Amino acid sequence: MSSVPARVRFAPSPTGHLHLGGARTALYDYLLAKQTGGQFILRIEDTDRRRLVPGAEEEIMSGLRWLGLQWDEGPDIGGPYGPYRQSERKELYQQYANQLIENDQAFYCFCTSDRLERVRTEQQKAKMIPHYDGTCRRLDKDEARRRVNAGEPHVIRFKTPREGSITVKDVLRGEITVENRTIDDYILVKSDGLALYHLAAMVDDHLMKITHVIRGSEWLPTLPLHSHIHRALGWEEPQWVHLSVFLKPTGKGKMSKREAADLIKDGHSIFVKDFTGLGYLPEAVVNWITLMGWSYDDHTEFFSLQDLVEKYSLERLNPSPAAINFTKLDHFNGLHIRSLPVAEFSQRIKPYFTATGLNADDATLNKIAPIIQERVATLDEAPEIAGFFFRPAVEPQVEELTAKGLTAAQSADVARRSLAVLESAPEMTAAAAEPPMRALVEELGLSAGQVFGILRTAVTGQKVSPPLFESMEIIGREEVLKRVRRAIELLERAG
Ligand code: GLU
Repeated sequence: MSSVPARVRFAPSPTGHLHLGGARTALYDYLLAKQTGGQFILRIEDTDRRRLVPGAEEEIMSGLRWLGLQWDEGPDIGGPYGPYRQSERKELYQQYANQLIENDQAFYCFCTSDRLERVRTEQQKAKMIPHYDGTCRRLDKDEARRRVNAGEPHVIRFKTPREGSITVKDVLRGEITVENRTIDDYILVKSDGLALYHLAAMVDDHLMKITHVIRGSEWLPTLPLHSHIHRALGWEEPQWVHLSVFLKPTGKGKMSKREAADLIKDGHSIFVKDFTGLGYLPEAVVNWITLMGWSYDDHTEFFSLQDLVEKYSLERLNPSPAAINFTKLDHFNGLHIRSLPVAEFSQRIKPYFTATGLNADDATLNKIAPIIQERVATLDEAPEIAGFFFRPAVEPQVEELTAKGLTAAQSADVARRSLAVLESAPEMTAAAAEPPMRALVEELGLSAGQVFGILRTAVTGQKVSPPLFESMEIIGREEVLKRVRRAIELLERAG
Protein backbone atom coordinates (compact mmCIF):
# COMPACT_ATOMS: atom_id res chain seq x y z
CA MET A 1 0.00 0.00 0.00
CA SER A 2 1.35 3.36 -1.04
CA SER A 3 1.71 5.89 1.74
CA VAL A 4 1.38 8.99 -0.45
CA PRO A 5 -2.24 10.13 -0.70
CA ALA A 6 -3.17 9.97 -4.38
CA ARG A 7 -5.29 12.62 -6.07
CA VAL A 8 -6.99 10.94 -8.99
CA ARG A 9 -9.62 12.23 -11.34
CA PHE A 10 -12.26 10.66 -13.52
CA ALA A 11 -12.66 13.07 -16.41
CA PRO A 12 -15.49 12.00 -18.69
CA SER A 13 -16.82 14.03 -21.57
CA PRO A 14 -20.61 14.26 -21.27
CA THR A 15 -21.11 13.02 -24.80
CA GLY A 16 -23.01 9.76 -24.23
CA HIS A 17 -23.79 6.97 -21.81
CA LEU A 18 -21.42 5.91 -19.07
CA HIS A 19 -20.12 2.57 -20.31
CA LEU A 20 -18.05 -0.24 -18.85
CA GLY A 21 -14.75 1.28 -19.95
CA GLY A 22 -15.48 4.57 -18.20
CA ALA A 23 -16.85 2.80 -15.16
CA ARG A 24 -13.68 0.75 -14.86
CA THR A 25 -11.49 3.86 -15.12
CA ALA A 26 -13.55 5.56 -12.42
CA LEU A 27 -13.34 2.46 -10.27
CA TYR A 28 -9.55 2.24 -10.55
CA ASP A 29 -9.36 5.95 -9.71
CA TYR A 30 -11.57 5.46 -6.69
CA LEU A 31 -9.65 2.45 -5.41
CA LEU A 32 -6.31 4.19 -5.59
CA ALA A 33 -7.67 7.32 -3.91
CA LYS A 34 -9.36 5.45 -1.08
CA GLN A 35 -6.50 3.08 -0.53
CA THR A 36 -3.99 5.86 -0.11
CA GLY A 37 -6.27 8.17 1.86
CA GLY A 38 -6.34 10.57 -1.09
CA GLN A 39 -9.15 12.09 -3.15
CA PHE A 40 -11.29 10.87 -6.00
CA ILE A 41 -12.22 13.80 -8.20
CA LEU A 42 -14.92 14.07 -10.84
CA ARG A 43 -14.12 16.53 -13.60
CA ILE A 44 -16.46 17.09 -16.50
CA GLU A 45 -14.64 17.68 -19.78
CA ASP A 46 -17.23 19.58 -21.72
CA THR A 47 -15.14 21.83 -23.94
CA ASP A 48 -16.37 20.26 -27.16
CA ARG A 49 -19.76 21.94 -27.11
CA ARG A 50 -20.96 20.32 -30.33
CA ARG A 51 -20.72 16.83 -28.91
CA LEU A 52 -22.53 17.54 -25.64
CA VAL A 53 -25.49 15.28 -24.95
CA PRO A 54 -28.17 16.73 -22.66
CA GLY A 55 -28.51 14.67 -19.50
CA ALA A 56 -25.18 12.88 -19.97
CA GLU A 57 -23.55 14.57 -16.98
CA GLU A 58 -26.40 13.51 -14.70
CA GLU A 59 -26.25 10.00 -16.09
CA ILE A 60 -22.52 9.78 -15.39
CA MET A 61 -23.10 10.91 -11.82
CA SER A 62 -25.94 8.54 -11.15
CA GLY A 63 -23.98 5.68 -12.72
CA LEU A 64 -21.01 6.35 -10.45
CA ARG A 65 -23.28 6.58 -7.42
CA TRP A 66 -24.95 3.32 -8.36
CA LEU A 67 -21.55 1.65 -8.48
CA GLY A 68 -20.79 3.09 -5.04
CA LEU A 69 -18.06 5.42 -6.28
CA GLN A 70 -18.78 8.68 -4.49
CA TRP A 71 -16.36 11.43 -5.44
CA ASP A 72 -14.72 13.80 -2.96
CA GLU A 73 -14.59 16.81 -5.28
CA GLY A 74 -16.75 17.50 -8.28
CA PRO A 75 -19.01 19.91 -10.14
CA ASP A 76 -21.99 19.30 -7.85
CA ILE A 77 -20.16 19.36 -4.50
CA GLY A 78 -17.28 21.68 -5.31
CA GLY A 79 -13.89 21.39 -3.66
CA PRO A 80 -10.70 23.36 -3.17
CA TYR A 81 -9.61 23.21 -6.83
CA GLY A 82 -12.85 24.04 -8.63
CA PRO A 83 -14.66 24.70 -10.77
CA TYR A 84 -14.79 21.08 -11.91
CA ARG A 85 -16.42 21.66 -15.27
CA GLN A 86 -14.00 22.64 -18.02
CA SER A 87 -16.48 25.01 -19.64
CA GLU A 88 -16.19 27.11 -16.46
CA ARG A 89 -12.39 27.22 -16.61
CA LYS A 90 -11.81 28.84 -20.02
CA GLU A 91 -9.78 31.77 -18.75
CA LEU A 92 -7.30 29.47 -17.08
CA TYR A 93 -6.55 27.68 -20.33
CA GLN A 94 -6.21 30.97 -22.15
CA GLN A 95 -3.74 32.14 -19.56
CA TYR A 96 -1.50 29.09 -20.03
CA ALA A 97 -1.85 29.23 -23.81
CA ASN A 98 -0.58 32.82 -23.62
CA GLN A 99 2.29 31.74 -21.43
CA LEU A 100 3.29 29.12 -23.99
CA ILE A 101 3.13 31.73 -26.77
CA GLU A 102 5.23 34.15 -24.72
CA ASN A 103 7.84 31.47 -24.17
CA ASP A 104 7.84 30.51 -27.83
CA GLN A 105 6.45 27.07 -27.06
CA ALA A 106 3.23 27.66 -28.93
CA PHE A 107 2.28 29.79 -31.92
CA TYR A 108 -0.71 31.41 -33.57
CA CYS A 109 -1.78 29.69 -36.74
CA PHE A 110 -3.87 31.46 -39.37
CA CYS A 111 -4.03 28.67 -41.92
CA THR A 112 -7.48 28.22 -43.36
CA SER A 113 -9.14 24.85 -43.41
CA ASP A 114 -8.95 24.91 -47.23
CA ARG A 115 -5.22 25.31 -47.14
CA LEU A 116 -4.82 22.60 -44.50
CA GLU A 117 -6.95 20.29 -46.58
CA ARG A 118 -4.71 20.84 -49.63
CA VAL A 119 -1.59 20.19 -47.58
CA ARG A 120 -3.11 17.01 -46.22
CA THR A 121 -4.06 15.73 -49.68
CA GLU A 122 -0.58 16.37 -51.00
CA GLN A 123 1.04 14.66 -48.04
CA GLN A 124 -1.19 11.67 -48.53
CA LYS A 125 -0.31 11.56 -52.21
CA ALA A 126 3.34 11.60 -51.25
CA LYS A 127 2.62 8.69 -48.84
CA MET A 128 3.45 10.86 -45.84
CA ILE A 129 1.61 10.78 -42.51
CA PRO A 130 -0.54 13.95 -42.56
CA HIS A 131 0.82 16.63 -40.27
CA TYR A 132 0.91 20.40 -39.97
CA ASP A 133 3.52 21.73 -42.38
CA GLY A 134 4.80 24.47 -40.09
CA THR A 135 3.86 27.53 -42.18
CA CYS A 136 2.73 29.73 -39.28
CA ARG A 137 5.36 28.31 -36.96
CA ARG A 138 7.84 30.40 -38.92
CA LEU A 139 5.88 33.66 -38.65
CA ASP A 140 7.37 36.57 -36.80
CA LYS A 141 5.87 36.74 -33.30
CA ASP A 142 5.03 40.45 -33.39
CA GLU A 143 3.53 40.15 -36.82
CA ALA A 144 1.37 37.24 -35.62
CA ARG A 145 0.27 39.23 -32.58
CA ARG A 146 -0.75 42.14 -34.86
CA ARG A 147 -2.87 39.82 -36.98
CA VAL A 148 -4.54 38.41 -33.88
CA ASN A 149 -5.25 41.93 -32.58
CA ALA A 150 -6.71 42.83 -35.97
CA GLY A 151 -9.23 40.05 -35.46
CA GLU A 152 -7.92 37.52 -37.97
CA PRO A 153 -9.28 34.01 -37.26
CA HIS A 154 -6.62 31.78 -35.74
CA VAL A 155 -5.90 28.75 -33.60
CA ILE A 156 -3.03 28.18 -31.18
CA ARG A 157 -0.72 25.25 -31.87
CA PHE A 158 1.89 23.65 -29.71
CA LYS A 159 5.40 24.22 -31.01
CA THR A 160 6.66 20.67 -30.73
CA PRO A 161 10.46 20.52 -30.63
CA ARG A 162 11.83 19.38 -34.00
CA GLU A 163 15.01 17.81 -32.74
CA GLY A 164 15.67 14.93 -30.40
CA SER A 165 13.23 12.59 -28.75
CA ILE A 166 11.08 12.39 -25.66
CA THR A 167 10.86 9.52 -23.21
CA VAL A 168 7.70 9.15 -21.14
CA LYS A 169 6.99 6.48 -18.57
CA ASP A 170 3.68 4.68 -18.44
CA VAL A 171 3.13 2.70 -15.24
CA LEU A 172 1.95 -0.40 -17.14
CA ARG A 173 4.10 -0.23 -20.20
CA GLY A 174 7.35 1.22 -19.01
CA GLU A 175 9.32 3.83 -20.93
CA ILE A 176 8.06 4.99 -24.29
CA THR A 177 10.47 6.94 -26.48
CA VAL A 178 9.30 8.91 -29.49
CA GLU A 179 11.23 11.01 -32.01
CA ASN A 180 10.00 14.60 -31.70
CA ARG A 181 9.87 15.12 -35.45
CA THR A 182 7.08 12.53 -35.60
CA ILE A 183 4.92 14.57 -33.23
CA ASP A 184 2.56 17.04 -34.88
CA ASP A 185 2.11 20.69 -33.91
CA TYR A 186 -1.22 19.92 -32.27
CA ILE A 187 -3.93 22.51 -31.87
CA LEU A 188 -4.31 23.58 -28.24
CA VAL A 189 -6.89 26.32 -28.63
CA LYS A 190 -9.49 26.36 -31.39
CA SER A 191 -10.57 29.38 -33.42
CA ASP A 192 -13.53 29.95 -31.09
CA GLY A 193 -11.07 30.44 -28.23
CA LEU A 194 -11.89 27.15 -26.54
CA ALA A 195 -9.05 24.95 -25.38
CA LEU A 196 -8.87 21.38 -26.60
CA TYR A 197 -8.35 18.39 -24.37
CA HIS A 198 -4.58 18.44 -24.91
CA LEU A 199 -4.22 21.75 -23.15
CA ALA A 200 -7.30 21.81 -20.90
CA ALA A 201 -6.71 18.42 -19.30
CA MET A 202 -3.01 19.11 -18.71
CA VAL A 203 -3.74 22.47 -17.08
CA ASP A 204 -6.44 20.94 -14.92
CA ASP A 205 -4.37 17.94 -13.90
CA HIS A 206 -1.63 20.30 -12.81
CA LEU A 207 -3.83 22.83 -11.01
CA MET A 208 -5.88 20.09 -9.37
CA LYS A 209 -2.65 18.46 -8.14
CA ILE A 210 -3.46 15.16 -9.81
CA THR A 211 -0.86 12.53 -8.94
CA HIS A 212 -1.98 9.76 -11.31
CA VAL A 213 -3.67 10.12 -14.66
CA ILE A 214 -5.55 6.88 -15.20
CA ARG A 215 -7.22 6.84 -18.61
CA GLY A 216 -7.97 4.75 -21.67
CA SER A 217 -5.18 3.62 -23.94
CA GLU A 218 -6.64 5.65 -26.81
CA TRP A 219 -4.60 8.48 -25.27
CA LEU A 220 -1.27 6.71 -25.63
CA PRO A 221 -0.52 8.19 -29.08
CA THR A 222 -0.80 11.73 -27.72
CA LEU A 223 1.00 10.97 -24.46
CA PRO A 224 4.33 12.39 -25.78
CA LEU A 225 2.53 15.65 -26.61
CA HIS A 226 0.98 15.77 -23.14
CA SER A 227 4.32 15.17 -21.57
CA HIS A 228 5.83 17.94 -23.69
CA ILE A 229 3.13 20.35 -22.54
CA HIS A 230 3.82 19.63 -18.87
CA ARG A 231 7.53 20.07 -19.41
CA ALA A 232 7.10 23.27 -21.43
CA LEU A 233 5.14 24.78 -18.57
CA GLY A 234 7.77 23.63 -16.10
CA TRP A 235 5.45 21.23 -14.31
CA GLU A 236 6.13 17.89 -12.78
CA GLU A 237 4.25 15.19 -14.68
CA PRO A 238 1.69 12.97 -13.02
CA GLN A 239 2.16 9.21 -13.20
CA TRP A 240 0.64 8.02 -16.43
CA VAL A 241 -1.50 4.91 -16.40
CA HIS A 242 -3.08 3.83 -19.69
CA LEU A 243 -5.55 1.02 -19.24
CA SER A 244 -6.20 -1.94 -21.50
CA VAL A 245 -9.01 -1.76 -24.05
CA PHE A 246 -12.21 -3.80 -23.93
CA LEU A 247 -12.90 -6.09 -26.83
CA LYS A 248 -16.22 -7.58 -27.81
CA PRO A 249 -17.08 -10.98 -26.30
CA THR A 250 -15.56 -12.82 -29.25
CA GLY A 251 -12.26 -11.11 -28.50
CA LYS A 252 -12.16 -9.79 -32.05
CA GLY A 253 -12.11 -6.02 -32.18
CA LYS A 254 -13.91 -3.30 -30.27
CA MET A 255 -17.66 -3.25 -29.97
CA SER A 256 -19.45 -1.01 -32.45
CA LYS A 257 -22.25 1.33 -31.36
CA ARG A 258 -24.74 -0.89 -33.11
CA GLU A 259 -23.46 -4.06 -31.43
CA ALA A 260 -23.55 -2.32 -28.06
CA ALA A 261 -27.16 -1.27 -28.59
CA ASP A 262 -28.16 -4.78 -29.70
CA LEU A 263 -26.86 -6.45 -26.54
CA ILE A 264 -29.94 -5.53 -24.56
CA LYS A 265 -31.97 -8.11 -26.50
CA ASP A 266 -29.96 -10.83 -24.78
CA GLY A 267 -30.26 -9.24 -21.36
CA HIS A 268 -26.83 -7.65 -21.52
CA SER A 269 -25.41 -4.19 -21.86
CA ILE A 270 -22.20 -2.21 -21.68
CA PHE A 271 -24.03 0.87 -20.35
CA VAL A 272 -24.14 1.31 -16.60
CA LYS A 273 -27.67 2.76 -16.72
CA ASP A 274 -29.03 -0.59 -17.99
CA PHE A 275 -27.65 -2.88 -15.32
CA THR A 276 -30.31 -2.26 -12.67
CA GLY A 277 -33.14 -3.10 -15.04
CA LEU A 278 -31.32 -6.25 -16.12
CA GLY A 279 -31.18 -7.39 -12.52
CA TYR A 280 -27.47 -6.98 -11.81
CA LEU A 281 -26.11 -5.88 -8.46
CA PRO A 282 -23.65 -3.01 -8.46
CA GLU A 283 -21.40 -5.18 -6.27
CA ALA A 284 -21.26 -7.79 -9.05
CA VAL A 285 -20.59 -5.24 -11.77
CA VAL A 286 -17.78 -3.74 -9.69
CA ASN A 287 -16.27 -7.16 -9.05
CA TRP A 288 -16.55 -8.08 -12.73
CA ILE A 289 -15.07 -4.94 -14.24
CA THR A 290 -12.25 -4.79 -11.71
CA LEU A 291 -11.04 -8.14 -12.95
CA MET A 292 -11.07 -7.01 -16.57
CA GLY A 293 -7.56 -5.66 -16.47
CA TRP A 294 -6.46 -6.34 -12.91
CA SER A 295 -5.92 -9.40 -10.75
CA TYR A 296 -5.04 -9.94 -7.13
CA ASP A 297 -3.48 -13.34 -7.58
CA ASP A 298 -4.27 -16.21 -9.91
CA HIS A 299 -7.25 -17.57 -7.99
CA THR A 300 -9.12 -15.06 -5.82
CA GLU A 301 -12.18 -13.82 -7.67
CA PHE A 302 -14.72 -12.64 -5.11
CA PHE A 303 -14.21 -9.07 -3.97
CA SER A 304 -16.35 -6.46 -2.30
CA LEU A 305 -15.57 -2.81 -2.97
CA GLN A 306 -14.04 -2.64 0.49
CA ASP A 307 -11.82 -5.67 -0.20
CA LEU A 308 -10.69 -3.98 -3.37
CA VAL A 309 -9.81 -0.77 -1.60
CA GLU A 310 -7.46 -2.83 0.54
CA LYS A 311 -6.09 -5.16 -2.11
CA TYR A 312 -5.89 -3.03 -5.23
CA SER A 313 -2.49 -2.18 -6.67
CA LEU A 314 -1.37 -0.48 -9.86
CA GLU A 315 1.40 -3.06 -10.20
CA ARG A 316 -1.09 -5.81 -10.93
CA LEU A 317 -2.83 -4.02 -13.79
CA ASN A 318 -2.64 -5.89 -17.06
CA PRO A 319 -2.11 -3.93 -20.28
CA SER A 320 -3.50 -6.68 -22.56
CA PRO A 321 -6.93 -6.12 -24.09
CA ALA A 322 -9.77 -7.80 -22.19
CA ALA A 323 -12.74 -9.46 -23.91
CA ILE A 324 -16.06 -8.60 -22.26
CA ASN A 325 -17.40 -11.84 -20.80
CA PHE A 326 -21.06 -11.70 -19.79
CA THR A 327 -21.05 -15.28 -18.51
CA LYS A 328 -18.60 -14.09 -15.90
CA LEU A 329 -20.91 -11.25 -14.98
CA ASP A 330 -23.75 -13.73 -14.38
CA HIS A 331 -21.39 -15.79 -12.29
CA PHE A 332 -20.42 -12.79 -10.14
CA ASN A 333 -24.02 -11.71 -9.86
CA GLY A 334 -24.90 -15.14 -8.48
CA LEU A 335 -22.07 -14.99 -5.96
CA HIS A 336 -23.01 -11.51 -4.78
CA ILE A 337 -26.73 -12.26 -4.61
CA ARG A 338 -26.01 -15.22 -2.38
CA SER A 339 -23.66 -13.29 -0.17
CA LEU A 340 -26.27 -10.64 0.69
CA PRO A 341 -27.91 -10.85 4.11
CA VAL A 342 -31.47 -12.14 3.53
CA ALA A 343 -33.10 -8.92 4.73
CA GLU A 344 -30.96 -6.97 2.28
CA PHE A 345 -31.77 -9.35 -0.56
CA SER A 346 -35.43 -8.93 0.25
CA GLN A 347 -35.17 -5.15 -0.11
CA ARG A 348 -33.17 -5.44 -3.34
CA ILE A 349 -35.80 -7.58 -5.07
CA LYS A 350 -38.71 -5.43 -3.96
CA PRO A 351 -38.49 -2.84 -6.78
CA TYR A 352 -38.57 -5.62 -9.38
CA PHE A 353 -41.97 -6.75 -8.12
CA THR A 354 -43.20 -3.19 -8.09
CA ALA A 355 -41.94 -2.70 -11.65
CA THR A 356 -44.07 -5.61 -12.82
CA GLY A 357 -47.14 -4.14 -11.13
CA LEU A 358 -47.09 -6.40 -8.07
CA ASN A 359 -47.58 -4.94 -4.67
CA ALA A 360 -44.99 -6.84 -2.68
CA ASP A 361 -45.43 -6.30 1.06
CA ASP A 362 -42.36 -6.55 3.28
CA ALA A 363 -43.73 -9.29 5.52
CA THR A 364 -44.28 -11.68 2.60
CA LEU A 365 -41.08 -10.60 0.87
CA ASN A 366 -39.09 -11.43 3.98
CA LYS A 367 -40.60 -14.91 3.96
CA ILE A 368 -39.96 -15.63 0.31
CA ALA A 369 -36.47 -14.10 0.20
CA PRO A 370 -34.75 -17.10 1.84
CA ILE A 371 -36.37 -19.61 -0.51
CA ILE A 372 -35.52 -17.77 -3.71
CA GLN A 373 -32.14 -16.27 -2.89
CA GLU A 374 -30.37 -19.42 -4.07
CA ARG A 375 -32.48 -19.63 -7.19
CA VAL A 376 -32.11 -16.36 -9.06
CA ALA A 377 -29.23 -15.42 -11.32
CA THR A 378 -30.45 -11.86 -11.78
CA LEU A 379 -32.82 -9.88 -9.55
CA ASP A 380 -35.37 -9.38 -12.31
CA GLU A 381 -36.02 -13.12 -12.18
CA ALA A 382 -37.52 -12.73 -8.70
CA PRO A 383 -41.00 -11.65 -9.89
CA GLU A 384 -40.85 -14.28 -12.63
CA ILE A 385 -40.42 -17.13 -10.21
CA ALA A 386 -42.18 -15.65 -7.18
CA GLY A 387 -44.81 -13.29 -8.56
CA PHE A 388 -47.55 -15.81 -7.72
CA PHE A 389 -47.17 -15.00 -4.02
CA PHE A 390 -48.62 -11.58 -4.65
CA ARG A 391 -51.26 -12.32 -7.26
CA PRO A 392 -54.82 -12.58 -6.03
CA ALA A 393 -55.30 -15.75 -8.10
CA VAL A 394 -53.46 -17.93 -10.59
CA GLU A 395 -55.08 -19.22 -13.73
CA PRO A 396 -53.05 -22.18 -15.00
CA GLN A 397 -53.53 -23.77 -18.42
CA VAL A 398 -55.18 -27.18 -18.34
CA GLU A 399 -52.31 -28.70 -20.30
CA GLU A 400 -49.92 -27.50 -17.62
CA LEU A 401 -52.11 -28.89 -14.86
CA THR A 402 -52.30 -32.29 -16.50
CA ALA A 403 -49.55 -34.59 -15.24
CA LYS A 404 -47.32 -36.47 -17.61
CA GLY A 405 -48.81 -39.87 -18.44
CA LEU A 406 -52.24 -38.95 -17.05
CA THR A 407 -55.42 -37.61 -18.64
CA ALA A 408 -57.09 -34.42 -17.46
CA ALA A 409 -59.74 -36.51 -15.69
CA GLN A 410 -57.09 -38.57 -13.91
CA SER A 411 -55.22 -35.41 -12.98
CA ALA A 412 -58.46 -33.98 -11.59
CA ASP A 413 -58.74 -37.06 -9.45
CA VAL A 414 -55.20 -36.62 -8.13
CA ALA A 415 -55.98 -32.98 -7.40
CA ARG A 416 -59.13 -33.96 -5.49
CA ARG A 417 -57.21 -36.47 -3.42
CA SER A 418 -54.53 -33.86 -2.73
CA LEU A 419 -57.17 -31.38 -1.65
CA ALA A 420 -58.57 -33.89 0.83
CA VAL A 421 -55.10 -34.50 2.27
CA LEU A 422 -54.39 -30.80 2.59
CA GLU A 423 -57.78 -30.09 4.11
CA SER A 424 -57.22 -32.63 6.80
CA ALA A 425 -53.65 -31.57 7.59
CA PRO A 426 -53.67 -29.74 10.94
CA GLU A 427 -51.99 -26.69 9.41
CA MET A 428 -50.52 -25.58 6.09
CA THR A 429 -46.87 -25.87 7.06
CA ALA A 430 -44.20 -27.79 5.18
CA ALA A 431 -43.82 -30.04 8.25
CA ALA A 432 -47.53 -30.83 8.44
CA ALA A 433 -48.38 -31.05 4.73
CA GLU A 434 -45.45 -32.78 3.12
CA PRO A 435 -45.50 -36.21 4.92
CA PRO A 436 -49.19 -36.95 4.20
CA MET A 437 -48.73 -35.77 0.59
CA ARG A 438 -45.79 -38.16 0.22
CA ALA A 439 -47.97 -40.92 1.64
CA LEU A 440 -50.57 -40.06 -1.00
CA VAL A 441 -47.95 -40.43 -3.75
CA GLU A 442 -47.22 -43.95 -2.45
CA GLU A 443 -50.85 -44.83 -2.18
CA LEU A 444 -51.67 -43.69 -5.71
CA GLY A 445 -48.68 -45.55 -7.11
CA LEU A 446 -47.66 -42.44 -9.05
CA SER A 447 -44.39 -40.55 -9.07
CA ALA A 448 -43.77 -37.58 -6.79
CA GLY A 449 -43.16 -35.58 -9.97
CA GLN A 450 -46.68 -36.33 -11.24
CA VAL A 451 -48.54 -35.58 -8.01
CA PHE A 452 -46.50 -32.61 -6.87
CA GLY A 453 -46.43 -31.31 -10.43
CA ILE A 454 -50.22 -30.98 -10.42
CA LEU A 455 -50.18 -29.37 -7.00
CA ARG A 456 -47.36 -27.00 -7.95
CA THR A 457 -49.12 -25.79 -11.06
CA ALA A 458 -52.39 -25.47 -9.17
CA VAL A 459 -50.88 -23.37 -6.39
CA THR A 460 -48.19 -21.36 -8.19
CA GLY A 461 -49.48 -21.34 -11.77
CA GLN A 462 -45.99 -22.42 -12.82
CA LYS A 463 -44.17 -25.59 -13.73
CA VAL A 464 -41.07 -24.37 -11.95
CA SER A 465 -41.27 -22.66 -8.59
CA PRO A 466 -39.48 -22.23 -5.30
CA PRO A 467 -39.83 -25.28 -2.98
CA LEU A 468 -43.50 -26.26 -3.08
CA PHE A 469 -44.35 -26.89 0.55
CA GLU A 470 -42.48 -23.84 1.81
CA SER A 471 -44.31 -21.81 -0.81
CA MET A 472 -47.68 -23.20 0.32
CA GLU A 473 -46.85 -22.32 3.88
CA ILE A 474 -46.24 -18.70 2.87
CA ILE A 475 -49.34 -18.48 0.69
CA GLY A 476 -51.46 -19.75 3.58
CA ARG A 477 -54.08 -22.43 4.02
CA GLU A 478 -57.17 -20.70 2.68
CA GLU A 479 -55.51 -19.42 -0.47
CA VAL A 480 -53.82 -22.78 -1.18
CA LEU A 481 -57.10 -24.66 -0.82
CA LYS A 482 -58.87 -22.11 -3.01
CA ARG A 483 -56.23 -22.49 -5.75
CA VAL A 484 -56.41 -26.30 -5.64
CA ARG A 485 -60.22 -26.17 -5.89
CA ARG A 486 -59.95 -23.87 -8.88
CA ALA A 487 -57.50 -26.31 -10.53
CA ILE A 488 -59.93 -29.19 -9.98
CA GLU A 489 -62.65 -27.15 -11.63
CA LEU A 490 -60.46 -26.40 -14.64
CA LEU A 491 -59.40 -30.05 -15.01
CA GLU A 492 -62.93 -31.38 -14.60
CA ARG A 493 -64.20 -28.99 -17.24
CA ALA A 494 -61.56 -30.24 -19.67
CA GLY A 495 -61.82 -33.93 -18.75
N1 GLU B 1 -12.45 13.51 -21.49
C1 GLU B 1 -11.56 12.42 -21.83
C2 GLU B 1 -12.38 11.26 -22.33
O1 GLU B 1 -13.55 11.18 -22.01
C3 GLU B 1 -10.81 12.03 -20.59
C4 GLU B 1 -9.55 11.33 -20.78
C5 GLU B 1 -8.76 11.44 -19.48
O2 GLU B 1 -9.12 10.76 -18.52
O3 GLU B 1 -7.84 12.23 -19.42
O4 GLU B 1 -11.88 10.42 -23.03
